[in-house]
Amino acid sequence: MTRYVYDFIEGDRSRADLLGGKGANLAEMTRLGLPVPPGFTVGTDACRAYLATGSPPAGLFAEVDTHLRRVEEQVGRRLGDPHDPLLLAVRSGGRYSMPGMMETILDIGLTDVTVAGLAARTGDARFAWDSYRRLIQMFGRTVHGVPAEEFDHEWAALRATAGPDGPDAAQLRDLVSTYQKIFLRVVGHEFPQSPQEQLRQAVCSVFASWNSARARIYRRREHIPDDLGTAVNVMAMVFGNLGPDSGTGVAFTRDPATGLPGVYGDYLPDAQGEDVVAGIRNTVALPELARLDPASFRQLTGIMATLERHYRDLCDVEFTIERGRLWMLQTRVGKRTAAAAFVIAAQLVDEGLITLDEALCRVSGAQLDQLMFPAFDLAGAPTPLTVGVGASPGAAAGRVVFDSAAATAADGPVILVRRETNPDDLPGMIAAAGVLTARGGKTSHAAVVARGMGRTCVCGADALVIDPQRGEFTVGDRVVRAGEVISIDGTTGRVYPGAVPVQPSPVARYLAGELAPQADPLVAAVHRLLGHADAVRRLGVRANADTAADARRARALGAAGIGLCRTEHMFLGGRRELVERLILADGPDAVAGALAALLPLQRADFTELLAAMDGLPVTIRLIDPPLHEFLPPLHELTARVARTEASGRDPGRDGELLAAVRRMHEANPMLGLRGVRLGLVVPGLFAMQVRAVAEAAAQRVRDGGDPRPEIMVPLVGDVRELAVVRAEAERVLATVPDAPAVPIGTMIEVPRAALTAGQIATQAHFFSFGTNDLTQLTWAFSRDDVEGSFFGAYLERGIFEVSPFESLDTAGVGQLVRLAVAQGRATRPELTVGVCGEHGGDPDSVAFFADAGLDYVSCSPYRVPVARLAAGRAAVAAGTGTSDSR
Ligand code: PEP
Ligand code: MG
Repeated sequence: MTRYVYDFIEGDRSRADLLGGKGANLAEMTRLGLPVPPGFTVGTDACRAYLATGSPPAGLFAEVDTHLRRVEEQVGRRLGDPHDPLLLAVRSGGRYSMPGMMETILDIGLTDVTVAGLAARTGDARFAWDSYRRLIQMFGRTVHGVPAEEFDHEWAALRATAGPDGPDAAQLRDLVSTYQKIFLRVVGHEFPQSPQEQLRQAVCSVFASWNSARARIYRRREHIPDDLGTAVNVMAMVFGNLGPDSGTGVAFTRDPATGLPGVYGDYLPDAQGEDVVAGIRNTVALPELARLDPASFRQLTGIMATLERHYRDLCDVEFTIERGRLWMLQTRVGKRTAAAAFVIAAQLVDEGLITLDEALCRVSGAQLDQLMFPAFDLAGAPTPLTVGVGASPGAAAGRVVFDSAAATAADGPVILVRRETNPDDLPGMIAAAGVLTARGGKTSHAAVVARGMGRTCVCGADALVIDPQRGEFTVGDRVVRAGEVISIDGTTGRVYPGAVPVQPSPVARYLAGELAPQADPLVAAVHRLLGHADAVRRLGVRANADTAADARRARALGAAGIGLCRTEHMFLGGRRELVERLILADGPDAVAGALAALLPLQRADFTELLAAMDGLPVTIRLIDPPLHEFLPPLHELTARVARTEASGRDPGRDGELLAAVRRMHEANPMLGLRGVRLGLVVPGLFAMQVRAVAEAAAQRVRDGGDPRPEIMVPLVGDVRELAVVRAEAERVLATVPDAPAVPIGTMIEVPRAALTAGQIATQAHFFSFGTNDLTQLTWAFSRDDVEGSFFGAYLERGIFEVSPFESLDTAGVGQLVRLAVAQGRATRPELTVGVCGEHGGDPDSVAFFADAGLDYVSCSPYRVPVARLAAGRAAVAAGTGTSDSR
């Protein structure tokens, strides 16, 4: 026969799937001999059976009765005993904590008869009637959906007329009678006078609360599966509301905000647990209990130390003191802030409770990410104006500007507000403290560039209506003008009016070399765990960097090279004109002239970059985007030309540019003339870039440096594309004296390249996965559009839990990655394989890349520490850590 019910002493913490988190931990505490009130747990499988059929499984309540007898024996009281009744607490508790989402019913077992017995036993009639009214209220609301206001209204009326000590026993007895009438009126039958019936109904209503609207919403947000069901814990009641020597509280074994050791928690004398939640009276800080009840305080702190040693982690507890006797009602490994997670993990290593490997697994890349950015001090923050996509973390406040020129001209911090950004906005993005756009998601231009620079960015705030001509934007009927101050939070996507105060991050200051590792406990913990990650990780970490300044920063943050230098970023600003010249060139000589003008500029860029990364690999990607991206937008040019013509003048160069833009127009530029295709149809373009790399490297060699450039070809889909480009590149390299050997590899970012990786590897020294494009092309999702359009609906409807542009879709895109690694290495065993899409800095994706056997990940400089940590964790998870390390 299936078994559904387990005494606390029968379970342990490994059985949380069946007993729920609360039940498993109650079992664990019982096993440890801690003072847990006797009780039992109805397993989650009973809930699943109930939810499937709408009724409790056969035999469940017979089993409950058997276990109830044992509780009665242990406590020495019986349920329903008119003279000395046992009362029960019925509490939900699923596999994962869902605080406040499901139901609890206390004081089960009180009836018109037993209430007198309780009064007699406790010598406190007022307490007994108060408990009875609590039961009718909780039971009515939870089991039968009686609106809370029905009872609250009467309770408030009584409290208003009662004396300073609150209602007396007779008043509470009358209130119970009123409550029973409300119950009868709303529910249609009397409040049940059978304790067994109360228990049965309470258990079923906890099962049903699994599917309450709020529980479902919470699960969706926390990614908890809907089909787990909840366990139900039935426990002998203990009372914290039996006078001044009783009370209830919550406590943490360390400070969950900072991680520092000490005694943290709240205590509420003469109260039950739900009074704390309801905030009826103010709690006192836990150390106050040492004065109120020193014996219980000593016992509690002893138990907390036991729990922490046993769980080897921060625990939180709920407890009740009944007339000087301490009872433990709950414990679990407690939630904590990101800062506390690091501090606690390091402390537990010092205390000999966990190894450094374990400590590394107790912190996450996402937590480190949070700690690296300045944060708003939200205490006094106003209501946000709107919320967009938190695209590049951090907190920035500044005056609103609407274009790059205003941003660069301003003194003092500004927020650059644009409908969307394009390469023209780069100087403004560099100058601004933060970037806010109305369109685009996490892989939009603004997001990618801002993350690369560590600039705070919120994108896709589609409630913004931006009117740069008028110098204002509106959100609903609120108008914000140029020069007004706003604050943006790149983590939450919130946009605030005014300047919200910002706190700098000590971790970022340490990583930048401005604070010593021992500056404070948090910095020391980060230093230690990051150091351990570096010691155990197999995966290399490089950075995506296009300038020497970024390269130096990345190196300081621990990058072992550059995995992606997007050379197109070197064609911006004043150099756009040279690209325009190239596009407008009308014959081979003009093309050669335009390229010759670009060559020294590129060479200088590469020389600086190679110097900044001396001795480390620098992967230089040949130009990728369509050339027309370097021309002004069609609508702008059309208007300009029309204005000039209307005034009777010759539009000159603008006219030529307009013709070129029209000629080069593509319906789907992302699928058009870009990457290797551009190199194949614009003669000399790639050759000029290769020459610039080779000459820069040769100069570095002559200067005594150790340049290690690598040339990478974008958007390859067929081995023949790569073969042609490589042959041309090698011809150029051979003509440059002193140039070191330069490996030539390819991005794998077109699904066909992944599928034919075995062939492509015949021509490639290395692969680097461009998972931005690979995701876009595998899903047929336009990376510039979808996050701002329908991704919200997809997330809402549970089709994604997270955007596949943010965290790698391991089931789909990941298969292409694995396939390409296997095929590529089958052809060329020594093939180096990395990734340089945005996923290279996403902790979950880093774990996947480690497992897929990549050699390195490459990410924005600011994400390098996060990737290092995630790579260390991945090594420990794969069993290649050093488990005895301290
Ligand atoms: C990619 O596609 O993942 C990539 C790194 O290239 P880009 O983002 O420049 O297209
Ligand atoms: Mg790409």
